[in-house]
Amino acid sequence: MKTSNQTLSPQADYYHAVSLSGGKDSTAMLLLMIERDMPIDLVLSADTGMEFPEMYEHLAKLDEYLFKKRKLHITTLRHPHGFEWVMFEEPKVKPSAIQRRLRDGVPLYGNGWPGIHVRWCTGQLKTHLLTKKVNELKGSYQALHYVGIAYDERERCKEEQYPLVEWKITEAQALNICYAHGFDFGGLYEIYHRASCWCCPFQRIDELRKLRHHHPELWERLRALDLRARKQFGPGPLGQFKKSWSMERLEERFFKEENPELPLAG
Ligand code: SF4
Repeated sequence: MKTSNQTLSPQADYYHAVSLSGGKDSTAMLLLMIERDMPIDLVLSADTGMEFPEMYEHLAKLDEYLFKKRKLHITTLRHPHGFEWVMFEEPKVKPSAIQRRLRDGVPLYGNGWPGIHVRWCTGQLKTHLLTKKVNELKGSYQALHYVGIAYDERERCKEEQYPLVEWKITEAQALNICYAHGFDFGGLYEIYHRASCWCCPFQRIDELRKLRHHHPELWERLRALDLRARKQFGPGPLGQFKKSWSMERLEERFFKEENPELPLAG
């Protein structure tokens, strides 16, 4: 899988760039674009570094398929320092941010857990990287940018190309298209409703319950991240995994659910 910028080689009049999150919708879009002989010049993916291992395996398999069919590799964009650096170490430089933190007694580095109002993870680790690349392409070429939004989410469409919406393909159909092409995401969609970062604080409690059960090693990493966040940022929003739930309390809750007759684990 290619991780640096590819040399651009426009075909015909337009340059065709596909955004690939790796989830069922963008995967189905890519598979159908390949199958329908649509031009593809670049496939872009932004990696937060916090995807499920099954997702990385899926992307590697998809990359192989793309190369076999189109002699192209996925171009993976990554933040130079990654999720944990932005969460714990990024220094604050804006005077207003420094002042606010000094006032609130919060360290001058790190962004803490992403929150509803500051979703830095999507912004810095995905959208910013993809938008920058797509804007570069649009500055140099007549570029078309293909985004995998399913028909049932069509209200999210803006001004890009949305083949699944055009073809009226729903999320459920997108998943079936992936399965029919032999891409099963290592069973991720059989367990979870979503297949993005395992450490996402916006996932539902039930998804976290499943994470503890099906991916205990990731659950432990998430507990360690939350412990570090609470230690560094305290009980305020930056140190809060979820508004009313720390990972510690979730661990207690799930342990109790599984072992109603036992005292809490030490
Ligand atoms: S899945 Fe969650 S943690 Fe990952 S980038 Fe999206 S909002 Fe952030």
